[in-house]
Amino acid sequence: MMKNLILLGSTGSIGENTLDIVSRFPDRFRISALAAGKNILLLEKQIRKFNPSIVSVSDSKTADALRARCSGLKTEIVAGTEGLLKAAAFPEGEMVVSAIVGAAGLMPTLAAIRAKKNIALANKETMVMAGELVCQEAVKAGVRIFPIDSEHSAIFQALSGNQKKDVRKIILTASGGPFLHTPRGQKEKVTPEAAVRHPNWSMGKKISIDSATMMNKGLEVIEARWLFDFPGERIEVLIHPQSIVHSMVEYIDGSVMAQMGIPDMRGPISYAIHYPERLPLDIPPLNLVSSGMLSFSPPDDEAFPCLSYGFEALKAGGTLPAVLNAANEEAVAAFLDHKIGFLKIEEVIKKTMDSHQIRTIQTIEDVNYADQWARKEAGALIEKLQGKS
Ligand code: NAD
Ligand code: MG
Repeated sequence: MMKNLILLGSTGSIGENTLDIVSRFPDRFRISALAAGKNILLLEKQIRKFNPSIVSVSDSKTADALRARCSGLKTEIVAGTEGLLKAAAFPEGEMVVSAIVGAAGLMPTLAAIRAKKNIALANKETMVMAGELVCQEAVKAGVRIFPIDSEHSAIFQALSGNQKKDVRKIILTASGGPFLHTPRGQKEKVTPEAAVRHPNWSMGKKISIDSATMMNKGLEVIEARWLFDFPGERIEVLIHPQSIVHSMVEYIDGSVMAQMGIPDMRGPISYAIHYPERLPLDIPPLNLVSSGMLSFSPPDDEAFPCLSYGFEALKAGGTLPAVLNAANEEAVAAFLDHKIGFLKIEEVIKKTMDSHQIRTIQTIEDVNYADQWARKEAGALIEKLQGKS
């Protein structure tokens, strides 16, 4: 059976990996819609190859430039928030691969859920900002959310065939990123170029920095809480630098289910878009003899405070996770822009969280309000820090 996909964030790392799978299985998937920012050269190639019905880009100027390159083609080109929401809810699409980076992924994901489409979720920020609300909407719409994040895909697989009441713990593994053993004093001076170089995965810039600060794992704890409807107090993190064990589920009888594989995002993407069947992929088999030692250690909260901010935001609840997310996005962008130093990222997040008055979330507007508030607050902090770092 052919499945019609809507791919949000098609020019990114997850987007390109998704299209790689689609191109290998043309009898199983069709691309109905694409959405991305401004990379029209790549979008033109994707349009010519996959022939989507509709493509959304960031703004009308970009749309004009793309239309000029694609004249004679049938693809409708739309722009801005309106265009993005239209692509996300496009009628012929059955499943939406949500792979835009950051808070920009929330509203289109929600629009897709409301339009009764199943979701393959890479955009973890959606779950961090509004996990409870988004899951309620998914139940209401009768759709499912399949994880693409490798840890969550591992947990999803380790849960299958078991009962949630029998789970004692969820254990997320973390590589520790490029600075796992870097002393604090040296982290002060790391450059964006060094920080985006992840030892095991090739990913977009934002998530690469999140991995270097380990904010990524803090976000993933919150993501796991909502995706699996599981209490945060029983979610743990283990450092596992080899990224072979992608995560684990521990049961009440002491049995631990771990999912393993060599790090390649096409594994979890294909599982999410083709569940419950698996696709034959050309990923090299895991060779445990040649992969060497697998090691595990507890995370160091002093070296990586962002991980504990994730737990803290989850525990406090309400608008705090959305605030954490927005402050992180602003701080990471400022670091990538050479405006603040690496260690200032955690400082901006912490200070923004500390000055926030938590509110309960009733509607998505409450989430967006908290997001905007935190961006302003973090922006002011960044301005103050600039020059001092
Ligand atoms: P990326 O930076 O490589 O790609 C981001 C994509 O989003 C691009 O196509 C870009 O054009 C698009 N985009 C950005 N802002 C947009 C906007 N306002 N409107 C429309 N499109 C916009 O990022 P990535 O590494 O592919 O990550 C995407 C998401 O997947 C993130 O939430 C990340 O945390 C998550 N994720 C990524 C990986 C990975 O291996 N890359 C693994 C797990 C989870
Ligand atoms: Mg992950």
